[in-house]
This record gives sequence, C-alpha cells and structure tokens, in this order.
Amino acid sequence: MKRICSLLLALAILLSLCACKKLPESSESILYAMDTQMDFRLYGDDDGAAAQSLGDLIAGLELELSATDNRSDLSMLNRLGSSTNADILALLRAAQTLSARTDGALDPTIYPLVKLWGFTADAYRIPREEELESTLKLVGLSRVHLYDDHVELDEDTMLDFGALAKGYAADLCRAELEKRQLTGILSLGGNIQTVGEKPDKTPWTIGVQDPDDPAAYVVTLAVEGTRAVVTSGDYQRYFEYDGTRYCHIFDPATGCPVQGELRSVTVVAESGLLADGLSTALFVMGYDKGEALWRESDDFECIWLFSDGSVRLTQGLEQAASGCAFTVVRR
Ligand code: AMP
Ligand code: MG
Repeated sequence: MKRICSLLLALAILLSLCACKKLPESSESILYAMDTQMDFRLYGDDDGAAAQSLGDLIAGLELELSATDNRSDLSMLNRLGSSTNADILALLRAAQTLSARTDGALDPTIYPLVKLWGFTADAYRIPREEELESTLKLVGLSRVHLYDDHVELDEDTMLDFGALAKGYAADLCRAELEKRQLTGILSLGGNIQTVGEKPDKTPWTIGVQDPDDPAAYVVTLAVEGTRAVVTSGDYQRYFEYDGTRYCHIFDPATGCPVQGELRSVTVVAESGLLADGLSTALFVMGYDKGEALWRESDDFECIWLFSDGSVRLTQGLEQAASGCAFTVVRR
C-alpha cells in the first residue's frame, strides 16, 4: 500500500511538472532602420542570434534600396540609369504586377514627384503647374525597361521603393525565422508581420492606429498564424499649408498627394510585399475602386478608415475585428 501511495505521489509530481512546462522564452529588440522604429518579439530557443540576423538583413536591404542614401544601389540606378541588383529587379517585377492590378495606382517611378514636393529634404513646397506637368512626364513604368538580369531607366526617371521595401524586408525576415524554427511578431514601422503561432496558441493582437492619436487604436485585430498587416495613411508623413493636408502618398495620375475621403487603408495578406504594395495603392484608389479590386481578388482583406470617422472592413476580417463600430463589406 505504501509503495502504491509513493508511486501515485511520484506520478502526481510528474504530471504537475508537465503541466507547468515553461513556454518558450520570448525576446524583444528594437532597431532603427528604413526611417522608422522596428520592434521584434521572438519566441523559441534562440540566444539572440535571430534578432541579430534580422537586423543585419534589414540593414543590408537599406543599403541597397534607400532612395536618399547616395551610396545605395537604388541611388546609383537613379543616377546612372541601369542596375543588376537582384533585390531591385525582384521589387520591380512585383511593382509591375501590382501596377497592372491597381490601374497604375502603385508606381515606384513617382520619385521625381516626391522630390518636387520636398519630401526627400523635409523642405515641403507646393509646385507650380508647369513644374508638375514637366515632372509628370518622367513618371510611368513604361519608362522602366526590365530584362532578365538588369534594368534600364529612361533619362531622368527615378525610382522610390518606399511603398514596398518594408513589406519585402518583412517577407525575408519571416523566411529567416521559419528557417530557425522561431515564431514571433515584427513591427517594421506601419508594417506588422506575424510568423507562426504564439506559444500559448492565443491569436496575435494587432491595433490599427487612430490617425489623430498615434497612441490609440481604432480597430483591434486578432490574427492567427502567419500574416502581414500593413497600413498606409495620410498621417504618417505630411505637411499642411493654408489648412490643407499634403501627405506622402502620391496619385501618379495627377502628380499630387492623395486627398479625399480616406485617412488610412490597412491590408491583411499572406505576403508582406503584397500587403505593403496594396495598402499604398488602395489609399490612392479610394474606396469604390478599392472595393471593386477586393471583389475580384482572393489574396487580401482590408480596412478603410474614412475622414468622417466611419470604418468599413471586408468580410474575412469580421470575426477578427473589435474595438469600434464598423460596416462589413460582403461579396
Ligand atoms: P507606404 O507608407 O507603404 O504607403 O508608402 C509610402 C511611400 O511610398 C511614400 O513615402 C513614397 O516614398 C512612396 N510612394 C508615394 N506614393 C506612391 C505611389 N503611388 N506608388 C508607389 N510609391 C509611392
Ligand atoms: Mg506600402
């Protein structure tokens, strides 16, 4: 009897030890790159090497893809008119596809406009009509000639991957974490990338920022598994003149910053690059055209925050969203 009692006791201790088995460690790190603060929370067996390699990866991409750093491969392309850089070629292929899908709303050749309006030097100005007209002549993907192993630009055409680079970086970071069998959540400025499941199996919680209060969220999303959640809005970078707001997202058709009914668009997709490109493009397209694009697509969901404070989101996010009243857009 005594032996049975001690056996039962040993079993009980073993079971309680199993129940208290520690969840994998989490580690947090912060990095400043690509003009923004980046935060990583990683789960799993790792001695800090993963965060280090994500940092190296992002720093390497910034050295290639920055439009403002004179030493970058992209700046050299903008000056010299040709490049063989593999990341630039990959981003241009993605941009061509997204431009076709969004009726030209996404266009990395807008860089001469970004400069004209003073966004590269924080020297904002409203250009004259003739300046706009002549600069618009330099814009358009037909001025980019993409070959298997290199790209050539027409004279004075310049590229800016500000709408895509963070999403592209997020996809590469995700692949690196998957290779290391880690999970986590990465915030690359307005780009959130979740990788795998949280160790406690609860969903990742992601807030969609209030355009008028960086510390507050309008919508909260409970996201399962690997997802990219990317927001483009008129509050991230802008200047005001005579009571009008001029933001950093340009309509390639007019050459002017987008103004209108929307404060932000958030896209949820499998790929960071797709979500990044689409959030910028959908902000340019406005609600009606954006909704039509969603109806003919099956690779993203989205949230529109309107200037009047109302919120619409597509039906795939209905269960995930909370925190405010919203209208669900159904197929
Ligand atoms: P995002 O924050 O991803 O929406 O990207 C905005 C950045 O992309 C801007 O700061 C510009 O550098 C660039 N950009 C602005 N308008 C466009 C556009 N229509 N297509 C592609 N890139 C753009
Ligand atoms: Mg973008």
